Amino acid sequence: MTVELICVGTELLLGNIVNTNAAWLAEQCAALGLSCYYQTVVGDNAQRLAGILRTGLERSDILILSGGLGPTQDDLTKETAAQVCGRKLTEDARSLSRIEEYFRERGLKMTDNNRKQALVPEGALVVDNDNGTAPGLILEKDGKRIILLPGPPNELIPMFEKKIAPYLLSLDPDGPSVIYSRTVKICGLGESGVEAMITDLEALSNPTVAPYAKTGEVHLRVTARAAEEKEAKKLVKPVVKELERRFGRSVYTTKNEVTLEDAVVKLLKKHGLTVSTVESCTGGLAAGRLVNVPGVSDVFKTGFITYSNKAKRKLVGVKKETLERYGAVSPETAREMALGAAKASGADVTVSVTGIAGPDGGSEEKPVGLVYMACFVCGNVWVERFQFKGNRAKVREASVAAALTLMRGCILEVFG
Ligand code: ATP
Ligand code: MG
Repeated sequence: MTVELICVGTELLLGNIVNTNAAWLAEQCAALGLSCYYQTVVGDNAQRLAGILRTGLERSDILILSGGLGPTQDDLTKETAAQVCGRKLTEDARSLSRIEEYFRERGLKMTDNNRKQALVPEGALVVDNDNGTAPGLILEKDGKRIILLPGPPNELIPMFEKKIAPYLLSLDPDGPSVIYSRTVKICGLGESGVEAMITDLEALSNPTVAPYAKTGEVHLRVTARAAEEKEAKKLVKPVVKELERRFGRSVYTTKNEVTLEDAVVKLLKKHGLTVSTVESCTGGLAAGRLVNVPGVSDVFKTGFITYSNKAKRKLVGVKKETLERYGAVSPETAREMALGAAKASGADVTVSVTGIAGPDGGSEEKPVGLVYMACFVCGNVWVERFQFKGNRAKVREASVAAALTLMRGCILEVFG
């Protein structure tokens, strides 16, 4: 089956918002085994949208639209799709009561134009929206389907995952099937290095193996399709095992929902270790990521933000001579920060970050993106040098991922 994506919104055409829905939907369709040959962006204009819909119906089996289901004047996707399919709009009682409840629950006043969102084309399948007011809609015309989804990603994504994907799978001419996937998450290795190690696996067709680069991480998604979940799991399992064998300790989880900070906190808990952070250029971001993890209070002691030299001296006892002789961004300072934080907080594990996030402050000897980190684990200290690329935000984000990875590596080094 072929699908075509149509994203509606003048803001998209003007570049005011980035069309993340198209990228996300395209990825999902590929994972479902649907071939997507066309993507279109069209403004909030009924005539042009109608034209795109007619063209789409000629060349694709399924049209998936995003946006323009809202209550305002410029939201005209539903009206236009109904017109192209020759359907009238009627009020859907269930949608209306869900919309009323949505407003009641939030203590908001429902305006008349919100009623418009309960209008649905005759004969359409109504898809409940659990995170907003506009329901999704599925229209059939001469064996083809038009699927209308709300524009906001926080509404579109859960609706697609929970309701649209199973619906699309049920249309499979070879009989219904399910998709099952697991993600092997790797830290501390670059994308190209990882890819070079999986070229043979990337050629597989069921399951498929697809790499996704994240900051400081590479995720390998293993996806299988089968008539039943049990069968799909059976196809995925040996490939996940093989990836674990190839990447060894660099794999921090094979569970879709586990993050790098989750894995680090789990490791700390496993060995009964407490942790503190001491950060200069990341200004508390590393502590913030650890605190993302529920239950981190069992292990997290404190986070020092030692941005100025004075703070480095006062809070964690970095020596004046060290700062003068080697500078704030140096392996020596990173080391003293980690040791000093351990002493000041009594934590078993500490990680320090000191670097040049830019855009200013770089030199030939110490360019922007140069970051030193140290990790203290029960009396042992490791110091590492990193050279990151990108703007200030990127350097800081990459530093935090590297700090978590370093900490994980050092704990594994000590405790196995
Ligand atoms: P609403 O009820 O909020 O009006 P809607 O279904 O009418 O939803 P739009 O009005 O087209 O959708 O877009 C609402 C918001 O959703 C946009 O301002 C934008 O933040 C987000 N959005 C819409 N389309 C996209 C897209 N293709 N990619 C990413 N975000 C999008
Ligand atoms: Mg809108």
